[in-house]
Amino acid sequence: MPLYESQTIKIYNSLSGEKETFKPINDGYVGMYVCGPTVYSNVHLGNVRTFMSFDVIFRYLKHLGYKVRFVRNITDAGHLENDADEGEDRIAKKARLEAIEPMEVVQRYTVDFHNILNKFNFLPPSIEPTATGHIIEQIEIIKSIIDNGLAYEVNGSVYFDVHKYNETKAYGILSKRKLEDLIHNTRALDGQSDKKNPQDFALWKRAEPQHIMRWPSPWSDGFPGWHLECTAMSTKYLGEQFDIHGGGMDLKFPHHECEIAQAQACNGQSPVNYWMHANMLIMNGKKMAKSTGNYILPNEIFSGDNPHITKAYAPSVARFFMLQAHYRSILDFTNNGLLASEKGFYRLMDAINLLNDLKTSDSSTFNVSEWQQKCYDAMNDDFNTPILIATLFDAAKFINQVKDGSATVSAEDLELLKQTFDIFVFDVLGLVNVAKESSGSDQLSAAVEILINLRKEARQNKDFALSDKIRDELAEAGIQLKDSREGTTFTTN
Ligand SMILES: [Zn+2]
Repeated sequence: MPLYESQTIKIYNSLSGEKETFKPINDGYVGMYVCGPTVYSNVHLGNVRTFMSFDVIFRYLKHLGYKVRFVRNITDAGHLENDADEGEDRIAKKARLEAIEPMEVVQRYTVDFHNILNKFNFLPPSIEPTATGHIIEQIEIIKSIIDNGLAYEVNGSVYFDVHKYNETKAYGILSKRKLEDLIHNTRALDGQSDKKNPQDFALWKRAEPQHIMRWPSPWSDGFPGWHLECTAMSTKYLGEQFDIHGGGMDLKFPHHECEIAQAQACNGQSPVNYWMHANMLIMNGKKMAKSTGNYILPNEIFSGDNPHITKAYAPSVARFFMLQAHYRSILDFTNNGLLASEKGFYRLMDAINLLNDLKTSDSSTFNVSEWQQKCYDAMNDDFNTPILIATLFDAAKFINQVKDGSATVSAEDLELLKQTFDIFVFDVLGLVNVAKESSGSDQLSAAVEILINLRKEARQNKDFALSDKIRDELAEAGIQLKDSREGTTFTTN
């Protein structure tokens, strides 16, 4: 009997605003679509957090025995800035600024995206389709929306008629917005636009002469609107109706709202049964933004090379830190939070590493099977990773007690403990049991500490030539020093 028959999952559905019992359309199979990155710059840490939430969900569904088809796209056709259907395509703009082919931009940042996700130990999705690989499918959808009377062509561009759609369906059903309010809050058209109403959105845009990425279509040489690609790719690989659609909270409106409208207009039915949205990641209590300097790149967490952190962190520590918040809560990225998670992570690993040396007794003083079900209960309750982690620590405490001799474990329960840690720590949370410090052996640490202290003395004596020499020669040997208010730490390549 597959596990999913005994473990019932509840999912918070953004569409209903309630936790609902998860029942897939086809018994034993799950179709899941997550909006992927726009590959015109390095992946944002907030996006990594969203993708990590769905990586864990993918892992858990697979563990329960579901056959999961997980589709996460790559937005490589760019999309228009400001969601206003005006302005320049982001990938084309980057290509023009850097005087390279748009596909070079796409390639560079797709590789960067995969590298980062690999470091964080993500599973690859089942299919990772690209927008530019599905232009034909997008054109076909536009044709049927026009045939169904819900889109119109003006000067080679095609727009979705939101007002007409709203006569029979509810535009705003997901984000709980009403069209009347949207009309009230939008400024009047400035006469530059071809749209009938400001709420209408582009399905196809005619390319201006300077626009580099363009494809032929029945209406003009141009490019598809951003919202359309997800409808085209999810329909193609998961069908007109599928189980789970995920993404960041910021995509709820207008992106996901437009996806629902497009699918309804094309196929006549609501495309998704469970809409899931991951919350924001902020840093030091404020929105993360390059412009304010309140910003960190994922790679800088691993190198420690960012003023907001005092040291380098192993990818599993950063992953553990992010999973200590529930995906629907705002996550505040702070150095103190990371330091605390680092301690917790190694405490958990130390307990797991003790498992092979524990002495067994005739009976256990801890109910291991009840504890195991608590781990499942945490994940079954809308994938509650912080509760799961807290539950794992209950067993870590027990393991330490067995080692001290203040508790006992039977051979059978010890086996169950090992299995359960394997399942939840490594398979579901996707953590890796890394060695305590990436900085190598104890002797090395001791030797570098001696040099750090010599350098400190040199600086106190204002012998900056010597202090710089120590730092630079260590760097040449692959050892980076990092100074902070708390002192000097080091990382190795
Ligand atoms: Zn999307």
